[in-house]
Amino acid sequence: MGTAERKESLRYLYDKVVDPLGFKFTPDAALAEELLEQEVKLEQDLGAPYCPCQMRSRVRGEDMRIVCPCIPFHRAHFDKMKRCWCGLFVHKDVTDPDSLPQFPPDEE
Ligand code: SF4
Repeated sequence: MGTAERKESLRYLYDKVVDPLGFKFTPDAALAEELLEQEVKLEQDLGAPYCPCQMRSRVRGEDMRIVCPCIPFHRAHFDKMKRCWCGLFVHKDVTDPDSLPQFPPDEE
């Protein structure tokens, strides 16, 4: 499967996963495209669509927590920001993702 096709299949799958969690894709289409592209590359290189914005520990059990969409593992943090760490997903009521705060998890 080519990169463009894989991006579209991830988009379809992610939409189904994040919707019941109260999230949607960012309205910033260019950012979404860029992040999906990076995830497909990570999947091709490392075997899973890891988060492009979080460091991998190389401990498989820990790294599973940052396979996209990682929202269930970081729910309290992301709900407080109304966005995921990368900004690929935002709460459904968000129309201006640039206005959202971002802070590290230890400030939850
Ligand atoms: S922070 Fe966002 S883009 Fe990164 S893995 Fe989690 S849900 Fe995906």
